[in-house]
Amino acid sequence: MPRQTNTNGKVEKMSSSKSFFYAKTLQEVFYQMKTINGLSVHGGCTDFAIHQKEFPENNLSIRNIEELKVLEKRERYFEIGSAVTLAEIEELGQSNLPTTLYEAIKSIKNLNVRNMATIGGNICSPFFYNTLYAPLLALNARLEFQREQETIYMSMSKFEGVPENSILTKIRIPYEEWEISIFKRLGPADYMNEFSGSFVFLANSQKNQISNIRIAFAGKFKFQDPELENKLIGAHLPLSGTTISEFVLEAEEAFNNVAENAHANPILKKQFWNLINYSLEQLT
Ligand SMILES: Cc1cc2nc3c(=O)[nH]c(=O)nc-3n(C[C@H](O)[C@H](O)[C@H](O)COP(=O)(O)OP(=O)(O)OC[C@H]3O[C@@H](n4cnc5c(N)ncnc54)[C@H](O)[C@@H]3O)c2cc1C
Repeated sequence: MPRQTNTNGKVEKMSSSKSFFYAKTLQEVFYQMKTINGLSVHGGCTDFAIHQKEFPENNLSIRNIEELKVLEKRERYFEIGSAVTLAEIEELGQSNLPTTLYEAIKSIKNLNVRNMATIGGNICSPFFYNTLYAPLLALNARLEFQREQETIYMSMSKFEGVPENSILTKIRIPYEEWEISIFKRLGPADYMNEFSGSFVFLANSQKNQISNIRIAFAGKFKFQDPELENKLIGAHLPLSGTTISEFVLEAEEAFNNVAENAHANPILKKQFWNLINYSLEQLT
């Protein structure tokens, strides 16, 4: 059984020989990262709980760090600290959040889990591209990581894992209105497995021409192809049958290449094909 936190809130030894550390500031995080070998960072531990049987020897909770709890809506973007829980984001309400992000959050298990789960843990999970990944990819979110002496900014599309000796501190999500905003969750409703995935399709038009389009998928692997998206920019609405069928073929080929490299279940390919068709139909 775990022992309780000590009074200075930093180190707790557990009788099972696992240690839990609790940081209240980023300074404490970097100090502990430097001084404790193999420290594993945790937000709400919910992702960890479903993928790992046992905690590592040394664990650090960052969920009580005030700097990581910012949640601000500015005129052009949202700034969300990595320790903000999914329930806290959800509380902003559907009208104050990008629709796809709100729907993705609401699709995750139940309020008990969302009360513990952090956005940072959802993004940084090394096990799976979690449910918020595709919305954040499509919305062009920017990630901020901090090391002891350095801040690293990275677009979601470039993110391949937490940089060494750093933690995710903030997520900045540009605020844009989208005429078409589709989020679909694939696989089981209550948990994640190889059939799980999130699909997002966003589109805007101007003077009856497509002016912006974003397509993202994330699950066992992630998929986003700006070149493919560009092929529809400027296309006249309603889309002709030929434009749709040519685009669907190209999208299918691009997606299948990535899916095959990831040894994904063929069902996902079929579902992606259906979702692209469905999304394009909303444009016509
Ligand atoms: C019953 C159940 C159902 C679930 N269903 C879903 C679902 O449908 N969709 C879904 O997406 N998830 C689901 N989850 C997983 C989980 O709840 C979410 O993904 C959650 O957002 C993870 O956040 P966390 O704070 O609990 O992560 P943690 O478990 O604390 O951390 C996850 C990983 O991220 C790393 N990490 C966390 N924060 C940071 C940081 N700031 N910087 C660097 N690394 C960090 C940790 O080291 C760890 O490797 C489910 C969980 C449970 C228990």
